[in-house]
Amino acid sequence: MAKINPNYEKLSAGYLFPEIARRTNQFLSENEGTQVMRLGIGDTTEPIVPSVIDGLHRGVDSLGNTESYTGYGPAEGITQLREAIAGFYNEQGANIDASEVFVSDGAKSDSANIQGIFSDDCVVAVQDPAYPVYVDSNVIAGRTGLAGENGYDGLVYMPCTEENSFFPELPKGKVDLIYLCSPNNPTGAVATKEQLKSFVDYARENKAVILFDSAYASFITDSHLPKSIYEIEGARECAIELNSFSKTAGFTGVRLAWTIVPKTCLAEDASEGVLHSLWTRRQNTFFNGASNIVQSGGISVLEAEGRAQTGRQVAFYLENASIINSGLQAKGITTYGGGNAPYVWLKTPNNLTSWDFFDKLLTECHVVGTPGSGFGPAGEGFFRLSAFGHRENVEAAVSSIKENLMV
Ligand SMILES: *Cc1c(COP(=O)(O)O)cnc(C)c1O
Repeated sequence: MAKINPNYEKLSAGYLFPEIARRTNQFLSENEGTQVMRLGIGDTTEPIVPSVIDGLHRGVDSLGNTESYTGYGPAEGITQLREAIAGFYNEQGANIDASEVFVSDGAKSDSANIQGIFSDDCVVAVQDPAYPVYVDSNVIAGRTGLAGENGYDGLVYMPCTEENSFFPELPKGKVDLIYLCSPNNPTGAVATKEQLKSFVDYARENKAVILFDSAYASFITDSHLPKSIYEIEGARECAIELNSFSKTAGFTGVRLAWTIVPKTCLAEDASEGVLHSLWTRRQNTFFNGASNIVQSGGISVLEAEGRAQTGRQVAFYLENASIINSGLQAKGITTYGGGNAPYVWLKTPNNLTSWDFFDKLLTECHVVGTPGSGFGPAGEGFFRLSAFGHRENVEAAVSSIKENLMV
């Protein structure tokens, strides 16, 4: 008899975004003719820049000629793109070889899949709040018990609070896999070099592996803040990094990302090179590579003109974040994030729960955001606003908050 994977039944009911959609639709059906302004989901809104469109076109055109046609490429990615990505790291003072770069179709799928090369009995630590896939992929893999009031049994939650400026303390005991995301979704906080160094030192002492998600690295404007964990001494021994073209280049629908597995990265029972060869094996077994058209677009993102044009687009989103921050602060609301990240993390006024604030913002201002509690227990009492949006929509949402929110 075919039996299902029972771990799926452990997933906490009411996934965040469907519940947001349900409440929004209910509001719209009860208030006909009303428009809502969405600062909820973290999806890009501005068109792909011209130099990258050219790169995508080159990818298409090369498929129409016998001489330049290509079929399957290497599962790890086209050499030219892997070299461009490695070159980008080396410029930042992070020593990465092209053979350590694995191109993929998404950092979400990579962050879900990467746990598969580790043992089932690894103890997993996550920042709380966190991007949900880190938790859910480990629940499905059977590394946790059931979900209760304070999260899943067996999972180590590292609270990110106002008191620790949204960067966690080191785990008390020994953990094996540690998920870190900086700039952080949802809090918008960015780890300093010293903060990352404390985790790198912990990981080396405990033979743990850090899974570092830097999908928003291009939003860092403060030059003292690290864009890659490999800027930290010792990280090549203990860290795997995931990054993506999604937010940097508007590729959320195009799909292109990469994962770095250094050859020097160790595990408790694995010497140098083993994790690298397991991920090579995993990708070659389950994956046939990212689209060659899309990889051609990725190459242009990393060229000088592509960097200049995508850099201006990232700056545009950061201006949106600054408009959101000023508007909320004018209402006396405490906000975090936004300076080096496309998310503003606000403390709900009058100690409202995240969902009560969601309803208040929707009914009073017609603005949709994301309840912090949907990202983990420590997100309760906080709320995420996304800076992805057309300028006029962001301005309209902020004006509505300023005029209509009753605090
Ligand atoms: C958007 C996002 C990604 C990117 O995922 P893709 O699958 O590459 O689109 C990765 N990590 C975090 C935290 C994100 O918010």
